[in-house]
Amino acid sequence: MEILYHSTRNNEKKLTASQAVLQGLAEDGGLFVPDELPKLDVELNKLKDMDYRGVAYEVMKLFLTDYTEEELKYCIDHAYDSKFDTEEIAPLTYADGAYYLELFHGATIAFKDMALSILPYLMTTAAKKNGCKEEIVILTATSGDTGKAALAGFADVPGTRIMVFYPKHGVSPVQEKQMVTQRGANVRVVGITGNFDDAQTGVKQMFNDAALKAELKEKGFVFSSANSINIGRLVPQVVYYVYSYLNLLKNGKIAEGEQINVCVPTGNFGNILAAYFAKQLGIPIDKLICASNTNKVLFDFFTTGTYDKLHSMDDQSHEFSGDRKFMLTGSPSMDILISSNLERLIYLIAGGDDAKDKALMADLSEKGAYTITDEMKAKLTDFVGGYADEARCAEFIKGLYDETGYIIDPHTAVAGAVYENYCKDTNDTKACVVASTASPYKFARTVMTAIDEANASKDDFALIDILCEKSGVAIPQAIEDIRSAAVLHDIVCETEEMPAQVKKFLGL
Ligand SMILES: *Cc1c(COP(=O)(O)O)cnc(C)c1O
Repeated sequence: MEILYHSTRNNEKKLTASQAVLQGLAEDGGLFVPDELPKLDVELNKLKDMDYRGVAYEVMKLFLTDYTEEELKYCIDHAYDSKFDTEEIAPLTYADGAYYLELFHGATIAFKDMALSILPYLMTTAAKKNGCKEEIVILTATSGDTGKAALAGFADVPGTRIMVFYPKHGVSPVQEKQMVTQRGANVRVVGITGNFDDAQTGVKQMFNDAALKAELKEKGFVFSSANSINIGRLVPQVVYYVYSYLNLLKNGKIAEGEQINVCVPTGNFGNILAAYFAKQLGIPIDKLICASNTNKVLFDFFTTGTYDKLHSMDDQSHEFSGDRKFMLTGSPSMDILISSNLERLIYLIAGGDDAKDKALMADLSEKGAYTITDEMKAKLTDFVGGYADEARCAEFIKGLYDETGYIIDPHTAVAGAVYENYCKDTNDTKACVVASTASPYKFARTVMTAIDEANASKDDFALIDILCEKSGVAIPQAIEDIRSAAVLHDIVCETEEMPAQVKKFLGL
């Protein structure tokens, strides 16, 4: 069955999967959704002995129907290879009542690698299929993590170049070191003197600059973006939820057809939406537990049906009585007030009503808030919202370590703590997969301070060594690289100079 894609804000205009991957975002500002959510066409028992690549093919072929078998397998084989430090790609670790789905075994030891290692191949294949002759130039503004994962994904991929702008004084020393040591003949990393918003605005302006785009086209280049609303990032994320279910089945932890729950530390709502798509495929998932940190806009939404980026809900009265402040937390990749991918869920629970979706999104940008109808809210029963503050996360990291010796990162701890609360509230005893989205090594300071406050005074590399000793987990290559790798990128520019830097990089 051929699946076509259209914008959440316009049901009429249809694109093939490869066209949607190339375009990223719809022209009307909406997100691409499939006309129909596919269903798995094989029994789970038949899939359970496949490796990650095999499962990836069975899942992705259902969504990316205009890619041939050969094309899709080429993309999958180049993405999920020895860049990952385990054959399993996404292993499950059981600790204290939950199955942690470790999504951090790729090049940058965080879950963005799961999608960004395949996106470059999906894109270059899409370019070929659609007769696009230009070299693809990925422009990204980053507040830290996405930039590195995109660099690692696109480095040395033929037919692509990647340029990342980051706020020179707005990322952590580790994040900066990760980016400026990036190898690859087609990569460039530039610090800007402004903040993240300046970098983001600068990139958006270049995407909308017709004269610049024309000049690029003439020289054989075309801009594209690798951000998390691309279906080429969403679809690969469905795979590991299917794979984790198969893993539980294969190892006799669940019986065929038995339902599990899934708990996901959420920011932009991409990862948990992928779990929802896995459920629609036919994977027996009951509850999708959406875990937030102190930036609990999604918890407030699932509780009330109102998404409000300006005001926060009082947990007792459910009134939106407080100002919502953007909070910096120990789980920075979840510090988000506008979860872009939620729009896809809004569209689906609106029964595919594009006008309704458009109106709600207009409310969000004009008034800072929207409220869904009761009918829509009734379709959200698959989801449970929860949140955990900083103290609770620290306590959870320490508790899990003391109990089991297993050490998790602060994002995963948000999900672990929310899942623990959920179990207490509901007595639900189903097996639960908790998405573990980063290696604790990436956030050694937060993690080791949670385990022992005396660690707060030690330096970052000392903490990494202590983490290694305590967890018994080898230090990942990505961390060793930071210790020893040479700085290869040292350009810093003013925000206004960003287009000039792009031209310089492309030799225009
Ligand atoms: C991006 C990220 C998240 C949030 O994922 P979304 O798909 O944006 O909800 C959680 N944890 C880590 C470590 C991340 O990098």
